[in-house]
Amino acid sequence: MGGITLKDECGICGRVLRVAYMRKCQRCKKLFCRDCMVPDVSTGDPTAMLCLHCARRIVSPRTVSKYEGLERHLKFRAAFTSTVKLPFARIDGLIGSNLPMAAYRDTAWWSNTSSSAHAKAWLEAGWEVQELNLKEGYVTFKKVRSVPFKKTKRRSLEISKPFTPVSVHIPRSKLPSKTKVSKLYARIKNLERQRATARRQIRGFKARPRH
Ligand SMILES: [Zn+2]
Ligand SMILES: [Zn+2]
Repeated sequence: MGGITLKDECGICGRVLRVAYMRKCQRCKKLFCRDCMVPDVSTGDPTAMLCLHCARRIVSPRTVSKYEGLERHLKFRAAFTSTVKLPFARIDGLIGSNLPMAAYRDTAWWSNTSSSAHAKAWLEAGWEVQELNLKEGYVTFKKVRSVPFKKTKRRSLEISKPFTPVSVHIPRSKLPSKTKVSKLYARIKNLERQRATARRQIRGFKARPRH
């Protein structure tokens, strides 16, 4: 027959392209368009590529919780207000990642219990979930105690020890340059913003609100 062209969606920008134009990430093994990838210089193989997400994780490994961005945001807002309403898309932006499907479906995911890493983030910031609207996709936090906001904490953490001792055997020069990394960050931020906007327009998920 012929005529059928295998296509797939880039895992970062979401563009649908012919598989021939896509590459597999060395680390997560998913397909991405070449715009969303950088060469994996540590392999010495110029065709080996890493997706931007994996490249970012290699350059600054996650030493803190995925939800640290949410925690920081709530600590920051605490100085001005005692209630904060956050659309889920906004939380995606704050944590630099996507909320899991459970957050869209299960009221229980939003329970104020320190046994979950995500709830720990808002509880340690001194906030609790006050109202949840799964249908409209937002959550309202209420400040329950004051926690000092340390503006410099994250920055100093990143600069003083960006790499774990284990990764020392990778020569420093083989890591992506600072400029490349900041371009990468900017691109990821852009994509997140686009995706958040798209989601706001779609609002398609079928979750019932359970208060
Ligand atoms: Zn892409
Ligand atoms: Zn990857």
